[in-house]
Amino acid sequence: MKEIILTVNPKLEDKFKKGFPLISGDALASTAGLEEEGSIIKLVDRRKQFIARGYYGKQNKGLGWILSWKEQERIDQGFFERKLNNAISQRLGFYQSDETNAFRVFNGEGDGIGGLTIDYFNGYYLINWYSEGIYQFKNDIILSLKQLVDSKGIYQKKRFAQSGKYIDDDDFVTGERAEFPLIVKENGANFAVYLNDGAMVGVFLDQRDVRKLIRDKYAEGKTVLNTFSYTGAFSVFAALGGAVKTTSVDLANRSEAKTIEQFSINGIDYEEQDIIVMDVFNYFKYAVKKQLKFDMVILDPPSFARSKKHTFSAAKDYTDLLKQTIAITEKNGIIVASTNASSFDMKKFKSFIDKAFKESGSAYKLMEEFSLPEDYRTISQFKQGDYLKVVFIQKIK
Ligand code: SAH
Repeated sequence: MKEIILTVNPKLEDKFKKGFPLISGDALASTAGLEEEGSIIKLVDRRKQFIARGYYGKQNKGLGWILSWKEQERIDQGFFERKLNNAISQRLGFYQSDETNAFRVFNGEGDGIGGLTIDYFNGYYLINWYSEGIYQFKNDIILSLKQLVDSKGIYQKKRFAQSGKYIDDDDFVTGERAEFPLIVKENGANFAVYLNDGAMVGVFLDQRDVRKLIRDKYAEGKTVLNTFSYTGAFSVFAALGGAVKTTSVDLANRSEAKTIEQFSINGIDYEEQDIIVMDVFNYFKYAVKKQLKFDMVILDPPSFARSKKHTFSAAKDYTDLLKQTIAITEKNGIIVASTNASSFDMKKFKSFIDKAFKESGSAYKLMEEFSLPEDYRTISQFKQGDYLKVVFIQKIK
């Protein structure tokens, strides 16, 4: 691959020199020469001195990622192998766990290669390529992975069609094909995952610690409403923790069968739980009309979603979502408010919470706070990378 030399905006030289990894269009004096994704970019300052080397790969976040701040370091198979090896050696505790066999092995820029993640699912690996650019390095990266680990098989997701969407191909790469559902373990519970069936595999591993706390500390004896429930992962942990009943609400038709499956593989009778296919915003109206209230409500919406009647954007509408939730939460009940929106930080998220309670004439206490778990490594130079924000809130009035 040829190397394209680009000059960084003088104002941003220091930021890049200190380790900021994302190359965005407005950080560059010019983007001339950027044509082929996967090309190597050499960033220089206004005196043409080397700052860093990265690759060109378009994502919604930017134009590419820095890979190395060492002028002599080459971006070759050895480079990828070193990065992967380092990431793997930081997750040995997960590899050795008897309780959990699904975790993130490689977390993009947090592990030194933006645009690439690798997850482990009970012997199988799933690689996510977030741009055409990073996909150009697939041979080196897959070879490195095969040399470093014993895998049963490797799958991949290409998340770089127009507008960063998922490309629906056969996702199998090499090794042995898994039988689906593949059953994985998380803190002793089971999840059914599908590595070859669309962009989402059935569970979001970044909520592992949140699920555990719900099971171990908050669920016992509670009625639990799980909104935007997807495959019901939070409901499963609440039920395992002794919830008297869970109600899972998601508008996707597939969510019902998927949630039944997750309950069943955990020995929970799904007929004693409610699984409702419905727009959450309609469900709130229904609950108010029927005067339903819950001891615990879990909110984990996508950052952005469009349904027939509603457009939901976490940045704009989270306060309103909380107000509707407060109205159907029992006094002393718990609201688990979660968002993966990277466009605002924890401080802002807490301001939404404060506003919602004030405008509801209600009062609250913050009980717990989470960001990404240990296996989702992040770096201090790129705060946006730590996108997850979860707060447990007690409604005290
Ligand atoms: N909380 C889930 C993950 C949520 S993924 C978990 O822990 O696994 C987002 C989900 O929100 C998707 O399943 C999608 O179908 C659902 N969704 C999006 N908009 C919705 C709406 N208006 N009402 C109900 N569900 C919605």
